[in-house]
Amino acid sequence: MEKALTPLEPFTASDIQQKLWDVLVIGAGVAGSVAALQAARLGMQVLLIDKRRFPRRKVCGACLNNLALDVFRQLGLTKLVQGLGGTDINDFSFHVGRQVLHVPLPGGIAVSRETLDDALVKEAISAGVWFLPEKLAKLGPLVGDCREVTIQQEGTEISVRGRCVIVASGLESVGPAESNEWKTEVVASSRVGVGCLLNEPEDQFATGTIWMGAGAGGYAGLVRVEEGRLNIAAALDRDFLRQQGSPATAIRAILEQSKMPVPASLMAAEWQGTLQLTRTTRPVASDRVFLIGDAAGYVEPFTGEGMAWGLLTAQQVMPWIQQAVARADWSPQVGKGWEQEYQTLIAHRQNLCQRFAWFLRSPTLLSMSLFVATVWPGFAKLLVNRLNAAPNLTPHE
Ligand SMILES: Cc1cc2nc3c(=O)[nH]c(=O)nc-3n(C[C@H](O)[C@H](O)[C@H](O)COP(=O)(O)OP(=O)(O)OC[C@H]3O[C@@H](n4cnc5c(N)ncnc54)[C@H](O)[C@@H]3O)c2cc1C
Repeated sequence: MEKALTPLEPFTASDIQQKLWDVLVIGAGVAGSVAALQAARLGMQVLLIDKRRFPRRKVCGACLNNLALDVFRQLGLTKLVQGLGGTDINDFSFHVGRQVLHVPLPGGIAVSRETLDDALVKEAISAGVWFLPEKLAKLGPLVGDCREVTIQQEGTEISVRGRCVIVASGLESVGPAESNEWKTEVVASSRVGVGCLLNEPEDQFATGTIWMGAGAGGYAGLVRVEEGRLNIAAALDRDFLRQQGSPATAIRAILEQSKMPVPASLMAAEWQGTLQLTRTTRPVASDRVFLIGDAAGYVEPFTGEGMAWGLLTAQQVMPWIQQAVARADWSPQVGKGWEQEYQTLIAHRQNLCQRFAWFLRSPTLLSMSLFVATVWPGFAKLLVNRLNAAPNLTPHE
């Protein structure tokens, strides 16, 4: 008898190869699992693939802003997200040297990615999605009216075909190295992300506040998530990280520079890292493949919007996916449609976030703007409201 591919569901390699998939989704982060869930709700046959075993940790500030929560509401997922034991966010406390800025920031939720992503994957499975964890997916060629994806695990490889593919692989590439279909531009000076989750007593870093410290080599955000655990995520200069020798010493240096307390278990934490953060991949659609979430582009996370971008793109790509699945031939117009919509939806928000990130790199500008925000609190509120604002979505026919 053929061996099941996953302990979660008893399907085999032949089961997967025999099916003609409407949608193959590569990556089960927030963007991929929500896209898979929606496609399944629309009656499509969906295979969701992730290289990691779930639940899995992921470097992230863990804060869902109002925009992200609004997308969950529109998708009927509010109860699910609210039931994960996350904490309500009320304010933001920004520390630079001896300066501190407090800004009210109501409405958000902090929940670890370990818990959130696992819950979204389970929701997708219960909507009919087939989920394949611990399998590395690589994008293959267009074959007739389908796109091929190869799935690898422990030396074995199988090919599957889908009417279209959603690439939601985060910062990682899924294309064969020789592919000319996409170009990823990584900003040379871009920072990298590091993060960990600590079981740290609640006498420091009170629940309900996003604590952020900025120093010469980067910035670090700390927030209490479910069960009182302390989530730490940071964007660091690569040279600074190298000089400091480890993520733990780098974060300690930033916290000390910003006169913040250093969690006792910081040095013993298990750290994860990311590739360079600021990047764009273009085009965002080509030959039955659609890019969403970080796979299409990302910038440094200061404004904490990445999950909202991932969710928005997962939601708004669906009409284009439906068109691609319905058509026997691939129309470049469908790809162009997604390209234009992506620009309207995300590009200007990322530009704004990138400007913030550059600002943070100049200690003088940073200190001046913190001073302005302290004496004129309306300035900080204006920025926060701007970042939380929902975009004007293009209605689809
Ligand atoms: C330091 C830091 C702090 C942040 N803070 C916040 C915050 O507070 N709020 C916020 O909204 N956003 C934040 N973000 C951004 C947020 O983490 C990302 O924007 C978000 O995770 C993007 O979701 P995604 O689904 O596109 O990708 P991901 O969540 O990265 O998921 C991609 C998935 O694809 C899988 N994968 C990759 N390659 C393959 C392959 N070849 N085959 C199979 N599977 C594959 C990976 O295992 C992963 O599970 C932060 C990011 C960083 C680095």
